[in-house]
Amino acid sequence: MTHHAKEKFYLTTAIPFVNAAPHIGFGLEIVQADAVARYNRLMGKDVFFLTGTDENSLKNVQAAEREGTTPALLCDRNSSKFQELRSALNLSNDRFIRTTHPAHVSGCQKLWRMCRPEDIYRKEYRGLYCVGCETFYTEKDLVDGLCPEHRTPPEVVEEENYFFRLSAYQERLEELIESDTIKIVPKVRKNEVLSFIRMGLEDFSISRSVRRAKNWGIPVPDDDSQVMYVWFDALTNYLTGIGFTGDGCEPFDGEALEQRYWPCDLHIIGKGIIRFHAIYWPAMLLSAGISLPKSIFVHGYLTVNGEKISKSLGNVIDPFSLSEKYGRDPVRYYLLRMIPPYADGDFSTEVFEKTYNSDLANDLGNLLNRTLAMVKQNFGDNLPKPGPADENDTELIGIYHRVVEEVFEAMEEYRFNLALESIWTLVRAGNKYIDLTEPWKLAKSPELKPRLATVMYNLCETLGKVALLISPYIPDSAIAIRKALGMSTEMVFTGEREWGKIDAGSPLARPEPLFPRIDAPAKKGSSAPGEKKSKAARVNSGSVGESVQSSKKDRKAEVSQNSAVPEVPVIAEHATIDEFIKLDLTVGQIVEAQPMEGADKLYLVTVDMGTETRVLASGLRPYFTADELQGRKVIVVANLKPRKIRGHLSQGMILASGEGEQLALLSVDSAIPNGTRVS
Ligand SMILES: [Zn+2]
Repeated sequence: MTHHAKEKFYLTTAIPFVNAAPHIGFGLEIVQADAVARYNRLMGKDVFFLTGTDENSLKNVQAAEREGTTPALLCDRNSSKFQELRSALNLSNDRFIRTTHPAHVSGCQKLWRMCRPEDIYRKEYRGLYCVGCETFYTEKDLVDGLCPEHRTPPEVVEEENYFFRLSAYQERLEELIESDTIKIVPKVRKNEVLSFIRMGLEDFSISRSVRRAKNWGIPVPDDDSQVMYVWFDALTNYLTGIGFTGDGCEPFDGEALEQRYWPCDLHIIGKGIIRFHAIYWPAMLLSAGISLPKSIFVHGYLTVNGEKISKSLGNVIDPFSLSEKYGRDPVRYYLLRMIPPYADGDFSTEVFEKTYNSDLANDLGNLLNRTLAMVKQNFGDNLPKPGPADENDTELIGIYHRVVEEVFEAMEEYRFNLALESIWTLVRAGNKYIDLTEPWKLAKSPELKPRLATVMYNLCETLGKVALLISPYIPDSAIAIRKALGMSTEMVFTGEREWGKIDAGSPLARPEPLFPRIDAPAKKGSSAPGEKKSKAARVNSGSVGESVQSSKKDRKAEVSQNSAVPEVPVIAEHATIDEFIKLDLTVGQIVEAQPMEGADKLYLVTVDMGTETRVLASGLRPYFTADELQGRKVIVVANLKPRKIRGHLSQGMILASGEGEQLALLSVDSAIPNGTRVS
C-alpha cells in the first residue's frame, strides 16, 4: 500500500550544456514538458517535474577558457539563466538540478558502483570524438568526415578508459523497445532505435583521463586518473534529481522521494540524443538492477525562418525578450500549437503575430470580451440562472464533450498541436453560438429574457471549460478567464467534466481585453497592389458572403485606402471559406473624419473598434461630408497590413459598395457592439 492515493507521474527534460545562454530550441522542449506536467496535474496526478543543467562537460570548460573565466563561474552564471526561464516561460518544474551539486556527484558514483562488476572494464582505445556532442563517432557515423550534428571534424583521442559492456544488453534492449516496455513516441524514432540496435551494439567508453577532461568532472570511484564520461554523469540526474543519493538533496527527503516517483514515467528529449536515452541509459539501469523508465518522447528541432538555429547565422532567438515583448502565454501557445511535436518546426515572427491575432486576440479574446460585455449589459454583475434550452445548446455541449475526448487522445501521444486545435474548435463554436442564438435580438423582448439567460449561462460555462482545458498550455490566460468568471482557479478536471459547473449568480468581473491585437509595422513599398489587397477589393464591391461573385462592371474598389482602382477580374474567382475567414471583418463606429491634406479624395477616419481606436485613410471624401460619417456603424477589414499614406499610418479599410456617383457604406442592421467580428 502506498501513502499517496494519487497516481504518480514523474517527467524530465534533457539537461542542456551551459556553454551558452538558453535559446528558443530548449524553450520548445521545456514548454512541452511543462504542458505535460500541468496536464497530468489537471488530471489529478501527483506530478514531479525535473529539469536542470549539465555542467561537467568539456564544452563548458572550453567556453570558460574562451571567456577567460573558470568553468565553475561560467556554470554558475549560465545555469542561473536557465533557471530564469522558469518565470520567463511560466514553468512549473518541481526541481532544478545542477550536475555540480555534491549529491549528484555522489549519486553518480553510487550508480557506477551498483553496475555489475563484469560490465565495467579498462581498455586502450583510439576513437573520433566530437566535443560538441560529447560523444565518440565511428567513421561510418560521420558525414564527409564531419560530425553529423555540428559539421565539424572530430578529434582523434587515444587513451586508456573504462568501458561499459553495452554489447551484453543488445537482445534485452531490443525486446524492451520492441514491446513498448520502454515506449518511444513517435514510432519513427522507435524504429530508428530498433534498427540501430539491430546493427549491433558496441561497448562504449564511460570515462576519460583527468588530463583530457582538464580536471573537470566527476571522479571515477577508486581511480584518481579518470573522470566519468559526461553522459554517464548527465543521465544519472534523472535519479539524483529525486534523491537517489539520500544524502543532502535538500530540500527533499531523498529515499522517500525516490520511492515515491521512480521509475520515471517520461523523458522528453530532442532527436539528437535518443541513443543515450533509449540505449545507454536503460542498459546502465539494467546493469545496476534499477527499474526502467516507462517512456521517451522525442521532439524535432526548431528552425528560424527555415534555417537551423546557430550563432554563426545570427538567428538565435532569445526566449526572454520574446516573452517580454509578447507575454508568456503567446510564446507558449506558438511553440505548442505551431511547432509539430514529431517533426522539425519553424519559428517566424510573421507567423507568430498572425497566430496571436487570429487565435488569441480574435477567437479566444473576443469570446471572453463579448460574453462578459453582454452579460453585464443585460443582467448586471452576476451570471443569470439558465432558462429554456434549444438545439443550439445541445450542439455546443456536444462539441464540448467531443473536444474533451480529442484532447485526452492527443495528449496520450504528446500531440500538443492537435489538443489545442481541438480546444479551438470549442472556442470557435462559442463564437458561432453567439451568432446562431443572436442574443441582441433576444435582448429586445422581455419575454425572451429567460432564453437570453440560457445563452449567457452556456457561454460562461464554455469559457470556464475552455479555461480548464487550456490551462496546461497557456496557464496565465486560464487563470485570468476563471477569475473573470468568478470561478475557482484551482485547475483540476476531475469533478469538473460534466456540463453546468459554473454557479448561477457567479460574480463576473469587468471585461478587460485578454489579448490586445498586435499591429504589424508598415512595410516599405507595400503600397503596390498585393494579393491581399485585390482580395479585399473584391469583398469591397461584392457581397460579403461565402463566395464573392459579382458581375458589376464598374467597381469602386479600394475606396478606403487610395483612389486608384486596381485591376481585378470582372468576374471574381471563387474564394474558399478558408480564404474568406482569413479576413478579419469587424464592426466599428466612426468617431470622426478629417480631410487629409494634399489628398482631395481622402479622409483620415478615426474608428472605435471596441477594444481599441483605429485611424485609417479612406477614399470616402467625394461621397460623404465629415458630419454624415460621424457616428456611422461600419465594417472594417481589420487585419490588412497597415500602410503609410502621405505620412499617415492607415490601419485597415472601411467597406463600401457603389456605382458612379453613388457609394453606400456596409453596416450592420442592429446595435452590434463595436469590435464584434463579422462571420
Ligand atoms: Zn558533434
